[in-house]
Amino acid sequence: MSRIVYVNGEFLAEADAKISVFDRGFLFADGVYEVSSVLRGKLIDNAGHIVRLHRSLAELEMAAPASDAAILAAQEALIQQNNVEEGLVYLQVTRGVADRDFAYPAADTPSTLVMFTQHKTLIDSPQAKQGIKIASIPDIRWKRRDIKTVGLLAPSMGKMQAKKAGADDAWMVEEGYVTEGTSNNAYIITQDNVLVTRHVGPEILNGITRRAVLRLAELTELRIEERSFTMEEAYAAKEAFVTSATTFVWPVIELDGQAVGDGQPGVFATKLRELYIEEALAA
Ligand code: PMP
Repeated sequence: MSRIVYVNGEFLAEADAKISVFDRGFLFADGVYEVSSVLRGKLIDNAGHIVRLHRSLAELEMAAPASDAAILAAQEALIQQNNVEEGLVYLQVTRGVADRDFAYPAADTPSTLVMFTQHKTLIDSPQAKQGIKIASIPDIRWKRRDIKTVGLLAPSMGKMQAKKAGADDAWMVEEGYVTEGTSNNAYIITQDNVLVTRHVGPEILNGITRRAVLRLAELTELRIEERSFTMEEAYAAKEAFVTSATTFVWPVIELDGQAVGDGQPGVFATKLRELYIEEALAA
């Protein structure tokens, strides 16, 4: 059975869902997106994702495509129609269809709103149990990573570079400091139990999962420092991990071929993952 996807107010079979060749999302990557996870058929942290969607839209002077209530209703309808117990809802807004021109079209040009679901094992994922290997690479992305745009070629190239180096993912480094993972936020825990993750700014995406995990970390004996860190500091760390909507918390067991700690998923990373899932399921 093919998926039902949402395109501009309509629920369509995957094969019938079409976007114009002149859509600015296609021609200019002039669009933003959000990914919300689904557990037991329910959206997780979705309100935070919608708040960030509005921020991305505002930074690009793009109008909201529909009311929050209409977006939520469509997300929930898609979950139901596609029988998603565990997985994600992807949502994308583009500036719509116009003659190809670098200048934005008239403000009343209707935006394009697309949503689809994916089934995905989130809780019992092998990466959560085994941990992942990270390779560090230069951060060659643009300078407004706080806007969640669909311009994702640089992180896509970075992910392939990591795979070629025998790793699962990459941490990107700029001016000597780690910014974030290709599609996640990056963290280390020092030998004296300080949780370090890059401060929020234009250099990284302000992760919705990041905010929740930092809040949950307050419940542990970790001290939190939101600041830049180097790969050298990471090599010496006791633990490392990444967070995102669809990974929650994945322990990092190797950095550039060197074991992190004893090379096993860390105690704190595992604990933070448990706390996050517990809270998500209780919501
Ligand atoms: N950084 C980048 C570059 C990302 O692509 C993502 C996930 N989309 C994140 C961080 C994590 O954000 P969130 O926790 O909101 O999924």
